[in-house]
Amino acid sequence: MKSIPSFFSHLECSSCRTVHDHTVLQTVCTRCGRSLLAKYDLKSAQRKFTRDQLQSGEGTLWRYRELLPVLFEENVVSLGEGQTPIFRLKRLGSALGIQNLWLKDDSFNATGSFKARGLSVAVSKARELGAKELCIPTAGNAGSALAAYAAAAGLRSHIYMPDDTPQTNVVECRLYGADVHLVRGLISDAATAMNREKDAGWFDVSTMKEPYRLEGKKTLGYEIAVQFSWRLPDVIIYPTGGGTGLIGMWKAFGELGELGWLDKRRPKMVAVQTTGCAPVVRAFEAHAGTSEFWNGASTIATGLRVPKAFADNLILDALYDSEGAAVAVSDDDILATISKVAALEGLLLSPEGAATAAALPTMLESGVISPSSVILLCNTGSGLKYAEVLQRSAGLEQ
Ligand SMILES: *Cc1c(COP(=O)(O)O)cnc(C)c1O
Repeated sequence: MKSIPSFFSHLECSSCRTVHDHTVLQTVCTRCGRSLLAKYDLKSAQRKFTRDQLQSGEGTLWRYRELLPVLFEENVVSLGEGQTPIFRLKRLGSALGIQNLWLKDDSFNATGSFKARGLSVAVSKARELGAKELCIPTAGNAGSALAAYAAAAGLRSHIYMPDDTPQTNVVECRLYGADVHLVRGLISDAATAMNREKDAGWFDVSTMKEPYRLEGKKTLGYEIAVQFSWRLPDVIIYPTGGGTGLIGMWKAFGELGELGWLDKRRPKMVAVQTTGCAPVVRAFEAHAGTSEFWNGASTIATGLRVPKAFADNLILDALYDSEGAAVAVSDDDILATISKVAALEGLLLSPEGAATAAALPTMLESGVISPSSVILLCNTGSGLKYAEVLQRSAGLEQ
């Protein structure tokens, strides 16, 4: 067995700091029920490892293997995830009066969304620790990614999703050989159904109830640091559902800071949600530490249709710590933005990714961003997965 020179040292509760055994499968903290975080021996990493090493290597997120939790090469399940491009949005920027507008385009990932990052690492680690069957409640893309990575690993997957999830996600999961359950309601109802039906042997990889999807998502932050030559953007705008990408990027910047590879500046982290489901925005506006369940959640941006994020406290911490913001946009703004960005930039954004661009005018007006800020939007998925939404966007008057 070829071992990976990883600096992974332990698992620690994000709330009560209890240390948990990382040599067995873990979900949440057995003491307080909150999310566990993977920790690394950054002191020895600093001595033995350089910034340049982090920038070189293969064209997937596994080039960051020293700062990932998988310990043996043979357990790595890769479908080419990560190392996605950043584009400068010149034409959209000029239309909005913003000079320095960029887009991290994660639609290039396997299964067409950034969920591939998290599930590549989570499925690899679950396989390393002996899991045979994995289960997940999903709004769509996380299910597709789990189904694909489980197939590649030769593991069984059980997917619970709302019965109005975009058709592409449902069909995709079936083709990957997953056991698919359509549940009336939202992702929260899918989770309830899963918890009722699941076998003792199924390992639950729900967002932030499993420690390693976050590790995959944090590689977004490493890539951004490298792609911006270690001078992070002023503002990062992220479409927030369960929040793993946002929490993950913030964790990555913290780690790179501890390694001494970043200056003191940190981006303002901005969470974008939709007016049909904005629990984090509401909590942020009330300066609250956690969010309230959003009743009647409804939006075309299915990845953002999360009525209450399990790790809402960590999302809000990142927003407050970074002096960031939280903004809601409407489905109509999203539809108009999809066609605008497609026509101006040649990029077909997911509704979630389009939400980050749709938030720009309000943010300029409120002063959260200025025309000279270096702004990075996150396109978390491919528009091609949302045939129904694209039809509506194309039908709008230009
Ligand atoms: C899941 C998803 C999101 C939300 O990501 P979280 O990590 O849950 O906040 C955003 N966009 C797309 C396309 C998604 O699939």
